Amino acid sequence: SYERILETRRTHLTPNLLAHFKKPLVIHAGHMQWLFDHEGRRYLDMFGGIVTVSVGHCHPKVNEALSEQSSKLWHTTNIYMHPKIHEYAERLVAKFPGNLKSVCFVNSGSEANDMAMLLARMHTGNQDILSFRNAYHGMSPYTMGLTAHSTWRFPLPGVNNGLIHVMNPDPYQGIWGGSACRDSPVQTKRECQCQDYCQAGDAYYTQLEETFKFSLPRGKVAAMFAESIQGVGGTVQFPKGYLKRAAALVKSNGGLFVADEVQTGFGRTGEHFWGFESHDYLPDIVTMAKGIGNGFPLAAVVTTPEIAASLGEALHFNTYGGSPLASAVGLAVLDVIEEDGLQRNSLDVGTYFLKGLAELQQRFEIIGDVRGKGLMIGVELVSDHVKRTPLSSPHVLDIWETCKDLGVLFGRGGLHGNVLSCRPPLCLTNDNIDFSLDVLSTALIKHIN
Ligand code: PMP
Repeated sequence: SYERILETRRTHLTPNLLAHFKKPLVIHAGHMQWLFDHEGRRYLDMFGGIVTVSVGHCHPKVNEALSEQSSKLWHTTNIYMHPKIHEYAERLVAKFPGNLKSVCFVNSGSEANDMAMLLARMHTGNQDILSFRNAYHGMSPYTMGLTAHSTWRFPLPGVNNGLIHVMNPDPYQGIWGGSACRDSPVQTKRECQCQDYCQAGDAYYTQLEETFKFSLPRGKVAAMFAESIQGVGGTVQFPKGYLKRAAALVKSNGGLFVADEVQTGFGRTGEHFWGFESHDYLPDIVTMAKGIGNGFPLAAVVTTPEIAASLGEALHFNTYGGSPLASAVGLAVLDVIEEDGLQRNSLDVGTYFLKGLAELQQRFEIIGDVRGKGLMIGVELVSDHVKRTPLSSPHVLDIWETCKDLGVLFGRGGLHGNVLSCRPPLCLTNDNIDFSLDVLSTALIKHIN
């Protein structure tokens, strides 16, 4: 029963799980963009199991691939070869530009980023790695250091070894705020006439240059990590051109640039298959997880054969990576994205959503900012529109829970937890958007009154 599940959770599960609803939700089933609770109530899943259910819960084609492979072979470990991993590797690397043709399969985003850190250090012979304020790259002891968001960090010794955080050029809440705009010192995004927010984060770029001059031994670096849109950090989009300049600077100082596509990959941002493509630069290493497996534990690191070779003869091993089951699921996910035109759908439905949200923003001062691309959208809630003061947690939780009670599950993100995160399965429809907008406006009206 419902009560028994809650009791077991209290007594037998570690307390670190993220169940913030006053009345916790127990999910029993899922179908495409819908989830069903213990009483059979239906919810629109606007968070996709934290950006993971890319093509839809229990998608029939993925189910079929999984069950077909499960009756043949689940696991071998990588001592032996099996056909699926080769078929999958070939299909996956075909999705990349340039010479990004070598793939290593692992099981989670943290593991993929761990591997990328190792590769960069082995390849360059340098130690230091840069990441951005507000970044999330994982929770393994290694990647926790890259994650620059105090909520997600434990006071472990050595967590920052060889890691340096730089300011993220956040056009809305960045500490240098409107000064990121080269053309005019705008105070709000609405006043800014520049396309895609502002043209370049000059102050932030200068800080990056200074970091090379003053913090890095001989100006050398192993790598810089960047999400193409900061996800957990609250759907933060960097000004156009920034990552391209940053990547060039890193490369000219002997480092590699790592694109963390854990949230932004697999067509989520609509415009391109990978988020980095919207920033018009070519990373040296790309890490991916979540949407790659639609919920099956699967992740990968893709790089060039030259960089991959720097692991040399060292045995880098994990038991499950690229198992027959995982590879079969990964292949089916790629098939569905292509056959169902999900990247295009993400762009179309996401654009429709952004338009609806912009209209909502005109009606509600509490909506400070609306941003994102494709079906990766953030709605930043504020208590003061002009000062952009983040709405405090109890208020955000109240709105969030009302949306849940009305049948829509949003996520939450941002340094202050005040950004509603929308990352639904990519099969979402415009009707689903209309429903979400209705629910959100009802929840805001209820909260304000
Ligand atoms: N990178 C990004 C951008 C993420 O959002 C996450 C997970 N939220 C990770 C890495 C870590 O992935 P995992 O939880 O699978 O270790």
